[in-house]
Amino acid sequence: MTTPNQLLNFINGQWTRSSASEAMTIVNPATAEALTTVPLSPGAEVDAAVQAGQIAFKEWSETPAVDRIQHMFKFKMLLEEHLDEIARIITNECGKTYAESVGEMRRGIENVEVACGIPILMQGYNNEDIARGIDEHMFRQPLGVVAAITPFNFPGMIPLWFLPYALATGNSFILKPSEKVSMSSQKLFELLELAGFPAGVVQLVNGGKETVDALLDHPGVKAISFVGSTPVAKYVYSRATANGKRAQCQGGAKNPVVIMPDADMETTTRIMADSAFGCAGQRCLAASVAITVGSARNNFTEMMADVATSRKVGYGLNEGVQMGPVITQESQSRINGLIEKGAQEGATVLVDGRQKQVDGYENGNWVFPTILDDVNPGSDIAQTEIFGPVLSLMHADNIDSAIELVNNRAFGNMACIFTSNGATARQFRHFADAGNIGINIGVAAPMAFFPFSGWNASFFGDLHAQSRHGVEFYTQTKVVVERWPREWSRQF
Ligand code: NAD
Repeated sequence: MTTPNQLLNFINGQWTRSSASEAMTIVNPATAEALTTVPLSPGAEVDAAVQAGQIAFKEWSETPAVDRIQHMFKFKMLLEEHLDEIARIITNECGKTYAESVGEMRRGIENVEVACGIPILMQGYNNEDIARGIDEHMFRQPLGVVAAITPFNFPGMIPLWFLPYALATGNSFILKPSEKVSMSSQKLFELLELAGFPAGVVQLVNGGKETVDALLDHPGVKAISFVGSTPVAKYVYSRATANGKRAQCQGGAKNPVVIMPDADMETTTRIMADSAFGCAGQRCLAASVAITVGSARNNFTEMMADVATSRKVGYGLNEGVQMGPVITQESQSRINGLIEKGAQEGATVLVDGRQKQVDGYENGNWVFPTILDDVNPGSDIAQTEIFGPVLSLMHADNIDSAIELVNNRAFGNMACIFTSNGATARQFRHFADAGNIGINIGVAAPMAFFPFSGWNASFFGDLHAQSRHGVEFYTQTKVVVERWPREWSRQF
């Protein structure tokens, strides 16, 4: 049922209370405190937003890009001023540490900065005299009303993978954030309102599946951006494209990292601990599988077990905490169940993070860092996205077999290698079947001026989020051929 402190939608420049008959409670995953409720908005509210977006689009798309980006500059300054407040909201509803929340906002703000360059980024190209007296031009024009559907794990950053590019290129934009973490979006939209975007240009509709389906089916929505789990990404991509929309849908991941014997082991284990256990492993770029090659096995296994055991777990706003809880009790049970399944499939639970408590936060959703050793490459656990602080170890004799293990999976979000040998790194870079590659880097998160380039079951579509891909996704090309023969020119 709806409650007095329920989150609001932002439709046509107004904060509006949803008429939803259903709402979800947002719970702090560390303290178990109920923070607020989020309405599961019905299709009629999506329709209201789309209609307002269509009206706003007429004026916004004709506003010169240099004027549109003035709102974006203002939004960037507001995000900087409110960084601490937003980071605290993210930590409280999502569980990650304060430093991780600030980090995600920095990566989000980068996208706002890049989109401020839209007057150059959305330039077309042209040729004079494709035939005598005939010129040809290509312009980029916005699509209309576009929407993004986002996941729980980066509530501040992921909306900003899309929103700045969609708006700066002249579209109206609707966000449907994850219903598990909608407070961060509410704050982002308070700042968007202060940044002075005209009514209907940027809108927030809270909700769940019904809200998503209404966006996917609405003929007024021209493009859908999605980030979430692979089954939902596939569903959203199929339904959106069947309805004639553009779609870019980022899915799940299971990222392998190869550790060569010539890697600097101290740096490698430090980076790997952050990659595997940062954000409690709830990152699409988390390192989930470490594949040691030859003699790297003993050193790496021992050192990883040490860093996993010594990681300080707790409430993300407390000093010195390195890892927070997982998002919900259901997630906690699912992850614990997958650790058990790994053990049943023959892996050794080298470090066991189950059944652990944090003093003073007994009701939090705790799973401590866990390491499964000798995971069988053919087992289910080797292929399943755990989305928790669990690192699986596999072992190979040489780089060729390690690359085979890397490529033996459905996902293709990221693959990394740690080595001091350039030729090995080059071989890996070329043959690893993933769209984002890290060399001596744990989390190869592309900067905002590069595409977030997931492959295979980690991405459905062709143009990715961020950078030039974002600009292309949110614009359609118009090609103009024009004839102006010299003899038509008049002398006055
Ligand atoms: P999710 O798929 O459960 O939810 C994502 C969004 O889809 C939410 O807004 C949710 O309301 C909506 N949704 C959920 N089920 C739906 C359904 N049946 N029909 C229509 N809409 C539905 O994902 P999550 O648990 O919020 O996020 C974690 C997942 O996201 C992980 O798999 C992670 O790897 C992935 N992820 C991927 C990337 C990437 O860049 N590839 C980035 C972040 C997260």
